[in-house]
Amino acid sequence: MTRRLSAIPARLGRLASRTASAVTVGTGFARTDRSSSTARGYGQDWRRVREQVLADEPLCRFCQAKGRVTAATDLDHIRSFQGLDDPLRLDRSNLRPLCQPCHMARTARQAAGAYE
Ligand SMILES: [Zn+2]
Repeated sequence: MTRRLSAIPARLGRLASRTASAVTVGTGFARTDRSSSTARGYGQDWRRVREQVLADEPLCRFCQAKGRVTAATDLDHIRSFQGLDDPLRLDRSNLRPLCQPCHMARTARQAAGAYE
């Protein structure tokens, strides 16, 4: 995105940057991009593990820590994996169930270089 934001009024500029970051975060989940989701580690085996973990622990872990009960919809890699052969990818001890808002917030923080 090398669009000239200076040419856009400030209010619209903020809107545009908010939309852009939401799109960037969204691509991390590979929901709509089926062709490359397998290549990036979110293929059939991942979906199977994901379903098992969510069946065993159906609540968002971050929300639980704050005393809220929220259904988990996503799995977060506590430590990010490096390629398809990395055992961290399907290691259940490296996975935690999160709701989508918590997962998106966590992914955004991770992308910004923060670890927790
Ligand atoms: Zn949550």
